Amino acid sequence: MNISDFKLKVLGSRGSMSVDGTHYSEFGGSTSCYLVTAGDETVFLDAGSGIVNAPVDFPKTPVILLSHLHLDHILGLGMYQRLSMAGVKTRLCIPAENAEAAEAAIDGVYSPPYWPVSFRQYAGEIQIEPLVFPLRLGELLIDGIEGSHPGGCKVIRLRYRGRSLVYVTDYEHESSSFEALKSFAENADLILYDGQYESDEYERKRGFGHSTPEMGMKLLEAVHAKLMLLVHHDPQSTDEELSRREKKIPRSGIRYARQGETVDLQSL
Ligand SMILES: [Zn+2]
Ligand SMILES: [Zn+2]
Repeated sequence: MNISDFKLKVLGSRGSMSVDGTHYSEFGGSTSCYLVTAGDETVFLDAGSGIVNAPVDFPKTPVILLSHLHLDHILGLGMYQRLSMAGVKTRLCIPAENAEAAEAAIDGVYSPPYWPVSFRQYAGEIQIEPLVFPLRLGELLIDGIEGSHPGGCKVIRLRYRGRSLVYVTDYEHESSSFEALKSFAENADLILYDGQYESDEYERKRGFGHSTPEMGMKLLEAVHAKLMLLVHHDPQSTDEELSRREKKIPRSGIRYARQGETVDLQSL
């Protein structure tokens, strides 16, 4: 660990539902989960099935931030091994009014009849708390705004030593929130952006809460970001399909996220 490190690793960027098989080997089939390391701080952005085989040892208590509670974003949580390690603490921050509501929200899925036990019965110490912005972890500053998605979803910005990344998952562009998003994401180095649908597909899926690479490109250009990774790949989008879409993107600095890749923010 180097104190100036600021890196993001894609543990899963599939949207809506996990997929597997030979047609998903390049971009990956695990659902939303991104591991961010900033010096000795560790943050997970969402806990989709990508978190299942994530590392478990960190210099300080890791924080799992949930953008929202849709199943694809919490799918891996119950099987993340760290949560079952006796005496080991993990913070879990959930968009909710207060601690009680945060606990009730996750308990609504991770308890019978949907799951055999609640998180209170896990061996690890899971500290469930409401996600409140700004959140500071040492030198890492985390901020957020409400995006545009059925039931709500947080857009999250992480700043560390002069660099920043913005996580825009499960976001459907519409004019008022898009303006707010532009000012929130101004001068970010890296943006993760929901590019689930192509434009013609989007016309048939209005209201489903997702966006397009074209709108991502508009955001990228408006805020002068260095790199945009398109995320939340549709389960129907195979490697062949995503490669075809990627080749059509008319500028550099924007591509689809690949499961397993790491972006070093200090070298962007
Ligand atoms: Zn999602
Ligand atoms: Zn969602």
